[in-house]
Amino acid sequence: MAMLRQPHESGRVTISRDQASVTYPAKFLPLSAMNPCPCGYLGATTHYCTCSPKHVQAYQNKVSGPVCSGSNRYHSPSNPSESPARKERRRS
Ligand SMILES: [Zn+2]
Repeated sequence: MAMLRQPHESGRVTISRDQASVTYPAKFLPLSAMNPCPCGYLGATTHYCTCSPKHVQAYQNKVSGPVCSGSNRYHSPSNPSESPARKERRRS
């Protein structure tokens, strides 16, 4: 994610090799998602989260500050067990 910050801000990506360097347009909308904890059930009303607070904090700290500050939208589902990803997982 951090590697995408510069191309996202400049709208260009440069690929450099030994003999040449090429710049391409790179306007895109970064979109990402993550579970609230390692097991994915933190905040769920239908399942019990088995993660310790220490593991939850370590997991959430994996996302670097610059990545978070570059994001202008943040949404935390009130019931993660009913998220579209969970429903999809149940079907398969
Ligand atoms: Zn959990």
